[in-house]
Amino acid sequence: MDYFNKFLVEPGSKADLGNIDPDFKDKHESHSHALPEIEAYSEKLGELQHLMYAENKRSLLICLQGRDAAGKDGTINHVLAAVNPQGCLVTGFKVPSKEEASHDFLWRCHKATPAKGQMAIFNRSHYEDVLVVRVHNLVPKNVWERRYEHINSFEKMLHDDDTHILKFFLHISPDEELQRFKERIDDPARRWKISEADYAERPYWDAYTEAFEDAVEKCSKKHAPWFVIPANHKWFRNLAISRIICEYLESLKMEYPAPTVDIDEIKKNYHQAEKTESQLE
Ligand code: AMP
Ligand code: MG
Repeated sequence: MDYFNKFLVEPGSKADLGNIDPDFKDKHESHSHALPEIEAYSEKLGELQHLMYAENKRSLLICLQGRDAAGKDGTINHVLAAVNPQGCLVTGFKVPSKEEASHDFLWRCHKATPAKGQMAIFNRSHYEDVLVVRVHNLVPKNVWERRYEHINSFEKMLHDDDTHILKFFLHISPDEELQRFKERIDDPARRWKISEADYAERPYWDAYTEAFEDAVEKCSKKHAPWFVIPANHKWFRNLAISRIICEYLESLKMEYPAPTVDIDEIKKNYHQAEKTESQLE
């Protein structure tokens, strides 16, 4: 199965979250059953990122959106474990600071986009400005309504400059979210993550769904696609995302750059002698 197309929200179509099963796990019965595949894609992802880094021609921007406890941090952990951290920058977007709030909404995001050869991950993104901002009326409707167009222009500009963009919504059910909050509370190492605000957002579940569906309909583009990832099973979420990134990077047909030196000449000048010396020993 081609995961890229399976989880893609076709440009121009509506993402109907109600009809996407957050429990989906494809043919896999369990984490251990999927483990060989998860490991294979992790390894492949590392190789492809290395190739992108070496090629130094284009970059990859991964945007992660999802409700509280949807697994954004866990996904980053998984993806980063596969790649060389030297080629990857992670930025989290929280409530804008005073300085950020005194600029246009894309300012802080543009600063965090990847340089050539680099990969960047957005933990939340510029989409917060049409999600939380819309749900809580943080700016007037006529302001957030214009932002879809601004986002599309911004992403098109990045793409024209060889920044490839993949956007993932981690789709969990309300029950799964509550269960994860409960697990956090019960775990002394993760308790600190819980805030009253997490619970306070739950009554807005449907408003977030509506805002998200709208954003995806307006902003899933061929050059900057949105994917809805079934994320009730953490291991399936990790598998699906790393597989989609791999499928996409493979389609770019990247190649290692040619060496800038004459390899035969280098061998002759520096390695011939070594061989002779070792042969002498
Ligand atoms: P967390 O991801 O749990 O650390 O929380 C970050 C919080 O910042 C979330 O509640 C986001 O909705 C909020 N946030 C992120 N971007 C914005 C924004 N542009 N405007 C308002 N709130 C935001
Ligand atoms: Mg939170």
